[in-house]
Amino acid sequence: MVRGEVIDGKQIAKEIRLELKEEVERLTRLNVRPGLAVILVGEDPASQTYVRGKVRACEEVGIYSEFIQLPAETSEKDLLARIDRLNRDAAIHGILVQLPLPKQISPDRVIAAIDPEKDVDGFHPIQAGRLLTGLDAYLPCTPHGILQLLKRTGISLEGKHAVVVGRSNIVGKPVSLLLQRENATVTMCHSRTKDLSYHTRQADILIAAVGRYHIIGAEHVKEGAVVIDVGMNRSPEGKLAGDVDFEAVRTLASHITPVPGGVGPMTIAMLLHNTIRSAERMAAST
Ligand code: NDP
Repeated sequence: MVRGEVIDGKQIAKEIRLELKEEVERLTRLNVRPGLAVILVGEDPASQTYVRGKVRACEEVGIYSEFIQLPAETSEKDLLARIDRLNRDAAIHGILVQLPLPKQISPDRVIAAIDPEKDVDGFHPIQAGRLLTGLDAYLPCTPHGILQLLKRTGISLEGKHAVVVGRSNIVGKPVSLLLQRENATVTMCHSRTKDLSYHTRQADILIAAVGRYHIIGAEHVKEGAVVIDVGMNRSPEGKLAGDVDFEAVRTLASHITPVPGGVGPMTIAMLLHNTIRSAERMAAST
C-alpha cells in the first residue's frame, strides 16, 4: 500500500528555533534583546498549556519573556490598561493575548488596542489589511507555519490547486491569501459548502482548518495530494487528534502532517520569528 511521507513539524520547528537562536545572539551582541509579553486571562487548561509552550520556546532561543497571568474576572478596562503599558514598554517588542477571553472582554477591542508594530500574532486589522493588500506585514503564525512546512519539505505551490477548508480570520482566510501569493489557485470551503468532498478531491494541496474530529477521510482526498491538518480536537478516547483521519488518508496522500507534531510546533516558531523581526525593526528605527 502506498504510504504518504509524514511531514515532521516538530523537527522542522526545531531547525527554525536553532536559526532563530542565532538571530537572537546576533541581536544581543548589538545590545538588542527581543522581548515578548504573553497575557493569559483566566485559567483555561488548554490556554495554560499553549502559553507555557510559548514562554518555554522564548527561553530556549534567548528571547526575554514576560508572562502576565490575570484572574478570570479581570475587566476589559484593566486589560486595556495593561496593554497600553506594554505598548509603551521599550523592552517589549511583541504582545500576545491568549484567546479565547472571558465573556466580559471583547477580543476585537483587545486586538485593536495592541500597537500594530507589536502585534506579533498578526491579528490586528492593520496587519490583516497589510497582508491583504500585499504590503509588508507580520504574517499570522499558523498560516506562516504551514507555508514554511510546505517550503521546507520542497513542495512547490506555483500553479497548484490548493483547497482550504475553514475561513476563520486566524487560519483559513490568511492561509488562503498566502497560498495565492505563492501562485497557487485557491478554493475556500466552509460550513455552507455543498458537496465538500467534490471540492477537496480536486486539491493538490488540502488544508483542513475546521476543528472537527476526522471530518476529512479518504473519500475527500485525491491520490498524491499533500494534506495539512491544522485541527486540534479530542478523539472519542480523549486523545489530541486532527481534522484528518490520518491512517486512512495517509494511504492516498503524497505528504501528510500528523496531529500532534505537525502544524502546532510551527505556530510557536513563527511567533518567535515575528518577535525577533519586531525587535530588529524597532532597533533600526531608533
Ligand atoms: P473556527 O471555529 O474559527 O473556524 C472553523 C471553520 O471551519 C469555519 O470557517 C467554519 O465555517 C468551518 N466549518 C465548520 N464546520 C464545517 C463543515 N462541516 N464543513 C466545512 N467547513 C466547516 O476555527 P479556527 O480556524 O480558529 O481553528 C480551526 C482548527 O484549527 C481548530 O481545531 C483549532 O483548534 C485549530 N488550530 C490549530 C492551531 C495550531 O497551531 N495547530 C492554531 C489555530 C487553530 P463557517 O465560517 O461557515 O462557520
